[in-house]
Amino acid sequence: MNNRKIIVITDLDGTLLDHSTYSFCEAEDALGLLREKGVPLIFCSSKSRAEIEVYRKKLSNNEPFISENGGAIFIPEGYGDLKCEFDKIEDGYLVIEIGSEYQTLADAFEKIKKRAGINIKSITEFTIDEIVWLTGLSGEEAFLAQKREYILPFINYGGEGDDKVIKDEILSLGLNYTEGARFVHLMGGNDKGKAVKILTDIFKKNYPETEITTIGLGDSLNDLPMLEVVDKAFLVKKEAGNYEERIKVEGLAYADGIGPVGWNKAVLGLFNNN
Ligand SMILES: [Mg+2]
Repeated sequence: MNNRKIIVITDLDGTLLDHSTYSFCEAEDALGLLREKGVPLIFCSSKSRAEIEVYRKKLSNNEPFISENGGAIFIPEGYGDLKCEFDKIEDGYLVIEIGSEYQTLADAFEKIKKRAGINIKSITEFTIDEIVWLTGLSGEEAFLAQKREYILPFINYGGEGDDKVIKDEILSLGLNYTEGARFVHLMGGNDKGKAVKILTDIFKKNYPETEITTIGLGDSLNDLPMLEVVDKAFLVKKEAGNYEERIKVEGLAYADGIGPVGWNKAVLGLFNNN
């Protein structure tokens, strides 16, 4: 590594990927520039590991990544000779687990459903066709979206007041929640910020001579903890053309464009100024 290194950490849905089409073609210029400059691009998504792997393949990305809102960090074995503590080795990754076990979440979800008596439905209760209809994912991706390990996405079909009841129930069980663009996420103590902090510290420990600058890009409330821990945070516009107003971070930069359009401009801008 050189003495200075930029690492780009990005949300996927609605940020690098278009909210409706899941295409990253609007960000191709910036993606090409990162490749050219050898800047690591780290995916940090609420998507499942299996879903993220699809995009790693599409983008020939071999970097570590963070799944399920910081549920776990996956570092490819042998990546940059990184040394770190990890919980297990699985499918060629060193896995650092931060989130609760899936079964704990599934059990809690059933309990909450019964106690609150509100119509909530988890991602695993939808058919593949229903997920395709709800999300615009392909059938194959919808199948992969159900492969949950650390968070349980769900939809509340009750009224607005029911939101609070459900959230109180979640907290009373010692669990947590956050909001993505389409689903509420039931989870344990994980968030994107904790995972990004752990991964950044691993980089810093392994490359003590290198001055590392982290760039974070997101669009939704679940990105807030990540945007709080990076050196430079960018918010892209949501599908409707607005910025998520609940995200307030010191020094936050507002990318000029929806999803990948804003992403492209923000990332290209990083290098224009240097
Ligand atoms: Mg998003």
